[in-house]
Amino acid sequence: MKEVPYFCPNCRSNRVKFSVVTTYSQRFMKNAADGTITESFEMTQVPEEEPNIQCMVCQFVGNELRFVKQAEREPRIMTPTTPSYT
Ligand SMILES: [Zn+2]
Repeated sequence: MKEVPYFCPNCRSNRVKFSVVTTYSQRFMKNAADGTITESFEMTQVPEEEPNIQCMVCQFVGNELRFVKQAEREPRIMTPTTPSYT
């Protein structure tokens, strides 16, 4: 994930609350006759260059780049009433 501002392109009201949606892979062995799982292995995270990000306000899920681009298009404007630490 990039250390840059995000802005939800869907609800356009959230720059703060997000969740990262990653893919996990888990190997398992099946019984060929009845389909039951006979053995399972540890889950491993699938590496992704651009993870999917979920907005925790509207639940929209999209590529990280869409959130970054939206923040670039509509940057947070710093005024005396909206200081940078909020
Ligand atoms: Zn949103």
